[in-house]
Amino acid sequence: MDTLVISCMDPRLNEYLDEKYIRNKKYGKVEIWRNAGGRVTTDRKLIEYILKNKAKRVILAPHTDCKAKLHIYEALEKGIKNTANDEIVDEAIGFLGCAEFRNREECDKLLDTKEQAYLKERLEKARIDVELDVVDISKLSLPKHDGEGKLVISSIMDVESKKLAEKAGVELPSCYIIQGPNLKGLHADIELALSLGIQKVSRVGEQNFE
Ligand SMILES: [Zn+2]
Repeated sequence: MDTLVISCMDPRLNEYLDEKYIRNKKYGKVEIWRNAGGRVTTDRKLIEYILKNKAKRVILAPHTDCKAKLHIYEALEKGIKNTANDEIVDEAIGFLGCAEFRNREECDKLLDTKEQAYLKERLEKARIDVELDVVDISKLSLPKHDGEGKLVISSIMDVESKKLAEKAGVELPSCYIIQGPNLKGLHADIELALSLGIQKVSRVGEQNFE
C-alpha cells in the first residue's frame, strides 16, 4: 500500500474519495479506512497496520458538517461527566485534553490537528507523511437523493465505494460506509450510525467479522 486515507462513513464523501484517491494514480495503491467521523483511533492496531503495510503516506480526510463530530461536540458541551461509556466521545476527550474551543468549528479543527499530530509523532521514525485534507461539503456537487441512509460494513479497502454500494445493492448517494481491515469492535461506530437513523446493515468482504 502507498497511501492510507482515513475518512468518515458519510455518503456525501463517496464520490469524492473514489475520484480523488482511488482513481488517481498520483497516490499509488490506495486503501480507505472509514468510520464515524473519520477519526484516528488510538487503538494500537491502526499504527501497526500502517507500518506493516509500509504505507508511504497517511491522509486524514475528515469533513465539514459532520454528524459524528456534532455528536462529539454536543456531548462535550453537556459536560464530560455525562459522556462516560461513549467510546467515541471518550477518545475525543483524550485528544483534546485541556484545550479550549469556543464553538463547533474550533472543536472540529482542534480534533483534526490533534489527531494529525498524534499520528505524525508515531510515524515520523518510519518517514511516513501524515497529511490533512478537510473536505468542505458545501463545495461538493452532490447527487440528489431522498431515501434513507443505508449502512454498509466492508473489510475491502482498496476499491471504489461505488463498487461496494453495488455489491451491497445500495444506491451510492445513500450508502454510508464503515470499512477497515479489522471490523471487530465497531459497535460504537455502528451504534452512532443507527442513532442517526441509518437503517440497514449490509456486509461486504471476504473476512469473517462480528
Ligand atoms: Zn462525518
